[in-house]
Amino acid sequence: MPARILDGAKLAGEIRAEVAAEVKSLAEAGVRPGLAVVLVGHNPASEIYVRGKVKSSQEVGLYSEQHSPDESASTEELLALIASLNRRDEIDGILVQLPLPAHVDSKRILLAVDPAKDVDGFHPMNVGYLSTQRPGLVPCTPAGVMEILRRSSIPVAGQDAVVVGRSDIVGKPVAMLLLNQNATVTVCHSKTRDLPNVCRRADILVAAIGRAGMVTRDYVKPGATVIDVGINKVTDRTEFDRFFSGPQAGNAKRLETFLAKGSTLVGDVHPEVSEVAGAITPVPGGVGPLTIAMLMANTVKAAKLRRGSGVLVRG
Ligand code: NAP
Repeated sequence: MPARILDGAKLAGEIRAEVAAEVKSLAEAGVRPGLAVVLVGHNPASEIYVRGKVKSSQEVGLYSEQHSPDESASTEELLALIASLNRRDEIDGILVQLPLPAHVDSKRILLAVDPAKDVDGFHPMNVGYLSTQRPGLVPCTPAGVMEILRRSSIPVAGQDAVVVGRSDIVGKPVAMLLLNQNATVTVCHSKTRDLPNVCRRADILVAAIGRAGMVTRDYVKPGATVIDVGINKVTDRTEFDRFFSGPQAGNAKRLETFLAKGSTLVGDVHPEVSEVAGAITPVPGGVGPLTIAMLMANTVKAAKLRRGSGVLVRG
């Protein structure tokens, strides 16, 4: 039986509607949460992401502003910008779009963001809050993964969860969130021995690798839930055929779009896995839409934590 498709676009719509309602009630109490997005230079992919974030902020009623320093901006200039955003009370969330230009000390920049405004959840203080189960800001994509599971009524406690990937922005925080919800978690990476065998133990398999279609059906226990975080652009027709040559619904439409645009997006999970899994997130339209929705939710959470009774403890 084909897997149940976990529709991230629909779930993201629900979250945005909930955030919009919260923004409205905060506005009635005289608070308008504000998000500042910092985009350095002109990375085309980053420009698209930032446009999406600013548009989504406006749609849910957040105040938002974009800062676009020149590509040549120095670490010191960016630190001054972050310091000014930290000081402004009407700014609740600060997001520095990565990657920063090579000459900029990214770690220093991320460390300079006030942890109470760190809506990306990358500051070591928020990482510590997550690992010690204190209230804080959780990275958006991992938080989105958990929302997909929760809103799809997929049990986590007591389940065997395998996370492939151990990056600071996806793999590790996803693993920590699953552990905090009482899953038994295994984290895999490029040095893991016999990866398919380890993955086949999973009731919940999360792929955050960055390799198109690497997780094939032999990695998946029949009936498992598969969350595909990967976003990989495929431009080569042979590679396209490797993923989408079957008679599955949607392949003809995808080919049409591929021929028109010259590319398509593929996750880290091979589409054939939907024949084995019990539930699976599609790419596109799975985890991706949740990331921006959780950024909106994090900005409101930051506003409430900073202004309300649950104010974050500053270091
Ligand atoms: P990353 O920093 O490059 O980390 C990739 C991880 O995968 C590393 O831990 C690496 O292991 C592991 N890995 C690489 N090749 C492997 C292999 N052959 N076998 C086992 N493990 C392997 O990537 P990331 O930033 O976490 O992103 C992962 C994917 O998620 C990318 O496709 C990215 O585009 C996507 N993403 C999507 C969203 C979204 O909104 N949906 C957000 C962020 C990222 P080592 O540590 O041993 O090198």
